[in-house]
Amino acid sequence: MNEYDSARVAAFLEFNGWFPAAAAEKADMILVNTCSVRAKAEENAIARIRELRKLRVESGELRVGILGCMAKNRGESLRKDLPFIDFILGPDEYYKLPEIINSQLSTLNSQLELFAKLTNNYSAFVAIQSGCNMRCSYCIVPYVRGMERYREPESILKEIEAAAAQGVSEVVLLGQTVNGYRFKGLSFAGLLRQAADVKGIERIRFISPHPKHYTGELLEILMGEPKIAPHVHLPAQSGSNSILKKMKRQYTRENYLSIVEALRSWNPLYGITTDIICGYPGETEEEFEETLSLLREAQFDSAFMFAYSSREGTPSASEKELITKQEKKARLQKTIDLQSTITLERAKLMIGRTERILLEKPSRKNPNEWVGKTGNFKKVIVGATLAVAPTITGAYINCKISAVQGHTLRGTIND
Ligand code: SAH
Ligand code: SF4
Repeated sequence: MNEYDSARVAAFLEFNGWFPAAAAEKADMILVNTCSVRAKAEENAIARIRELRKLRVESGELRVGILGCMAKNRGESLRKDLPFIDFILGPDEYYKLPEIINSQLSTLNSQLELFAKLTNNYSAFVAIQSGCNMRCSYCIVPYVRGMERYREPESILKEIEAAAAQGVSEVVLLGQTVNGYRFKGLSFAGLLRQAADVKGIERIRFISPHPKHYTGELLEILMGEPKIAPHVHLPAQSGSNSILKKMKRQYTRENYLSIVEALRSWNPLYGITTDIICGYPGETEEEFEETLSLLREAQFDSAFMFAYSSREGTPSASEKELITKQEKKARLQKTIDLQSTITLERAKLMIGRTERILLEKPSRKNPNEWVGKTGNFKKVIVGATLAVAPTITGAYINCKISAVQGHTLRGTIND
């Protein structure tokens, strides 16, 4: 979502005559988009912004702005730590940018530049929903991103068509509970169907769906529409019903596993990835073990795993944290170790198969090799017979998976 927001701000500025600067030192304005989902994300953002202090102080003309969730969460108090910053804008305030640019940057020369990250040219993120109406007890997102709003299908489809016209063939629909999307009579499943009809779009992904909104209608289209990639990132957070209840996640372990069962009985190689939080306040050893057993039972292809981070203003922040820091870390490590072996097992199941992969970019380690993704979202390094391959970013090729190295697949191109 943040990458998408950055790209939109960049596109907006470019439309208004700005250009990306080749380096931070050359920029007239630096905007730092931030996350506040965990304390660590904010600490990292503050450290990165602090690095800009020297540039800002030395150049009378450079302006530094903070965007995103941390800007909203901490607001003006950020100036205490970062007195050199020029402006602070939360996720719903980017419309104020022109006014800020006019008032603060009017002395700049006409060749204005911007330092921003743009999305790649083979895959497009398209936000279909903003905000979140859930109130998971630990989560700051609803407070910084506000209530759910759904974009009009016409505007979503226009954006997808525009991306496809530029050669993008993969689209990733974004929202905090993306499968809860609805607009007048149109459901998320209906929107997927319309997106699949866009000429030039060959692969559709979406992130993050919520288990509560996994309807029969959705399962039906996931299994019936070949353009929808056989992968889902479905955050579970915990394998314990008592913790899920305290987290206010609105599903049980059994509900969650029934989705896994439906997808994997249809396609045993269906990619399922997840998010896990370790050491929620009051999590007992038994409750933690249930998370480990969920990992074993669901056989996730991979997972993002986090130690619980108390976020001021959320309901769980008022719960006493009785689990020590070391214990939380130890639980996280155990989770990572177990998932690592499962990830490897799942990767090995791919050996010998021929997969359609989307070529993304040359490998950083060896420019003669390319990085691609399978439909079930596994990274593949393709080498050797590349001379015969259409070596263009965004091409689909058939690739024979020959080995697993670390957690990454290796393959060769089938003619
Ligand atoms: N909307 C998505 C999640 C968005 S936040 C969903 O509900 O599935 C991304 C991930 O950050 C979450 O899935 C969760 O695992 C993690 N996270 C959020 N708040 C956290 C906290 N306070 N401590 C640790 N991890 C957290
Ligand atoms: Fe946060 Fe829950 Fe909303 Fe996800 S669904 S963004 S975890 S409140």
